[in-house]
Amino acid sequence: MTDAVVADWINETVIAEALLDAEREDPARVRAILDKARELQGLDLHDVATLSAVTAPDLLAEVFEAARFVKDEIYGQRIVFFAPLYFSNICQNECTYCAFRKSNRDLQRRILTLEEVARETEALVDQGHKRLLLIAGEAFPDKGFTYLLDAIATIYAVKRDKGEIRRINVNVAPLSVEEFRELKQTNIGTYQLFQESYHRRTYAQVHVGGRKADFDWRATAIDRAMEAGIDDVGIGPLYGLYDWRFETLAMMQHIAHLEQRFGVGCHTISVPRIEPAMGSDMSEHPPHAVSDADFKKLVAILRLAVPYTGIIMSTRETPEMRRETLSVGVSQISGGSRTDPGGYTRAAAEDASQFTRGDHRSLDQVVQDIAEIGYVPSFCTACYRMGRTGKDFMDMAKPGLIREMCGPNALSTFVEYLEDYASPATAEAGERAIGEELDRMAPKIRRYADTMIRKVREGKRDVFR
Ligand code: SAM
Ligand code: SF4
Repeated sequence: MTDAVVADWINETVIAEALLDAEREDPARVRAILDKARELQGLDLHDVATLSAVTAPDLLAEVFEAARFVKDEIYGQRIVFFAPLYFSNICQNECTYCAFRKSNRDLQRRILTLEEVARETEALVDQGHKRLLLIAGEAFPDKGFTYLLDAIATIYAVKRDKGEIRRINVNVAPLSVEEFRELKQTNIGTYQLFQESYHRRTYAQVHVGGRKADFDWRATAIDRAMEAGIDDVGIGPLYGLYDWRFETLAMMQHIAHLEQRFGVGCHTISVPRIEPAMGSDMSEHPPHAVSDADFKKLVAILRLAVPYTGIIMSTRETPEMRRETLSVGVSQISGGSRTDPGGYTRAAAEDASQFTRGDHRSLDQVVQDIAEIGYVPSFCTACYRMGRTGKDFMDMAKPGLIREMCGPNALSTFVEYLEDYASPATAEAGERAIGEELDRMAPKIRRYADTMIRKVREGKRDVFR
């Protein structure tokens, strides 16, 4: 396989034509697309363009209704939890929207020692987390890339009396194929990288220095990760830099390219919107700020377009927006997050943070909130540990794996959380949500779930199938 060096799969003309073609709102065409989406086969770029142009309130209500249907069919009430661990805020790049950019002299720079990485991990495990997203700026001064590998090994080595981190996802700057191979050896879950903008001109305007200024090096990074054997990958634009419809269609082209080249698209999509970041004027006034209404619409469209791909919502968003988007598509959320390195073991330092968070609640509060509205928080990490990744995951997901496997796994890991970490109010809300979920299950799946829950209540931990 030859290395992809140019992202020639982004076709701005095709996107422009599709958006133009979609301008004339045609209810019959929209309804035909929604019918197709309900069959869980996904949508193409033109379908996505058509849905993104819908503005009539009644038609929009139908889009949300279809998204709720798809979300419920595939994911049920399950919501996967994770926490970001910021490892370093030192960076050689100049992204005009980010507080970590090199020229921001007011930021308190920190790269955690391995000892500090272990302490942060302990703090997260003691909250009840099992899944981390390791994040860093681009540069490991005096240490180099292998320091990242050491950090991953350090996190996996942390064992507390009640638990440990069982899956580490990674969001770091693009690597070479050889480095990605080494990263894979450390047993990571997903490699995640946001293209920020798929629009070349916009990309050049906001990435004004450092290696990240090279659009193609970034846009072909997921190819390199997959060439290196990392088959669970996460992508996403940074919404607010350019027109959200263009970015979403270009992301569809990215997914189509991966499917064509590797037989599988991405495992997750993230939907970050630009939040105010220290010392960044543009982050206070993003050039193409996405309104709350459009944001909810784009999440729903993604759910319809790539039904088996997880959609991740971070604490950039407010509790209200997180609640609203859960029903129309989001399947993974973070809770109790800090965006400054060392933030879990010392007082929050806004002068070292990447951006302002919209949700400041603790993990326990977020879990209680979503359990009260009937969701089942999941701390499951089974799939990648069982080798269900990439194409294997998608092949099994389609005939209903997510319900059969993830349903019981979500319940056993949620019971584990409730027994070991929850406050009394969260435990009460959680037990109610579990009872309701068991009642909804088909008899065979319920039998698995009952057996697994019994084992956890008897004291066994890390029960999964
Ligand atoms: N430095 C690496 C990179 O840029 O790919 C990885 C980590 S970076 C800290 C993670 C992501 O944070 C970026 O890809 C960007 O999308 C997002 N980000 C940066 N500034 C942001 C802001 N002001 N608001 C919201 N998200 C932001
Ligand atoms: Fe550095 Fe990433 Fe922030 Fe850009 S987005 S300045 S690469 S940390």
